Amino acid sequence: MRRASALFTCLALCATLLSGCGPRAQSSTIFAMDTVMELTAYGDRRCVDEAVELIHALEERLSVTAPESEIYALNKDGRGDVSGDTAALLSRALELCALTDGALDITVYPVLRAWGFTTGEYRVPEEDELAELSRLVDYTAVEIDECTVSLPRGVMLDLGAVAKGWAGDAVAALWREAGVKSGLLSLGGNIQTVGAKPDGSKWRIGIRDPFSEETLGAVEVSDMAVVTSGGYQRYFEEDGVTYCHIIDPQTGRPARSGLASVTVIGPEGVVCDGLSTAIFVLGLDAGARLWRASEGYELVLVTDGGEIYITCGIENTFTPMGPYIDSEIQVIRRG
Ligand code: AMP
Ligand code: MG
Repeated sequence: MRRASALFTCLALCATLLSGCGPRAQSSTIFAMDTVMELTAYGDRRCVDEAVELIHALEERLSVTAPESEIYALNKDGRGDVSGDTAALLSRALELCALTDGALDITVYPVLRAWGFTTGEYRVPEEDELAELSRLVDYTAVEIDECTVSLPRGVMLDLGAVAKGWAGDAVAALWREAGVKSGLLSLGGNIQTVGAKPDGSKWRIGIRDPFSEETLGAVEVSDMAVVTSGGYQRYFEEDGVTYCHIIDPQTGRPARSGLASVTVIGPEGVVCDGLSTAIFVLGLDAGARLWRASEGYELVLVTDGGEIYITCGIENTFTPMGPYIDSEIQVIRRG
């Protein structure tokens, strides 16, 4: 009897010691910014709850369709004051528009709306309607003076290409400040990692195959965002033609650059998010040129033909998987 109770005490002690080995995973799954999001932090439950609140607050400010949002008010009135955080995001997004020479253009909204991508009431607009609306697409026309934003008549903003990346950065900053050493955010096609895994090893992030539900490969990262843009994420079909939600601002039509998906890996979610959308528009050659001309991020590009191109910085950390396990991976180099 005494031996049994000693054994029980010993087991209980072991369990206590083990549970004290590291912080427990705290998770939430929410629907926000038009997508399912999963937040996991190893630490205090409060960190996850505060992150959920933060994401909802950002969504309320940035949504293009919610009448109480700052962006909605700007689009309606053409001029107004926004919060410091929204002004900071707008400035950051405009820098990315300039860096990508307008392949990313946050004023694409009038065109996007004509295709029905914001409402789900899809249609193929007429040529002259597109020509008319395309004249309103010009990120250089957006003026920001501290927190006051002015848009010329008819110009409208949509931060859909960068908002999730910005939200990921905001949550990562919140968690780092709260002392979270290990966290993982999955915001639709956006992954954001905080620190490394609880055991100290890197996170292994799967990248989705744009042609199936499978994973095409994985990258090992810590403290990085891994953001994918792909035509498969939102599209409609009409008369046998597929139209995707990423618009080429030069044509006013869904981008057809020969890429099926673009993944950008880097320390800042907002940069990765803006660049993944832009490089999807630019295509393989112009995307590789942009990568060579800038720095601080790596790429995984999948062509419409199913070829994979990666940039040389992830040559040793990218592993092809599933249907691509024996594929030849092309490496884009700086020189
Ligand atoms: P992402 O999923 O990050 O690639 O962003 C796609 C979203 O950004 C779309 O659903 C639109 O709301 C918006 N968008 C589409 N094309 C562009 C573009 N060329 N520049 C900026 N935003 C765009
Ligand atoms: Mg994006």
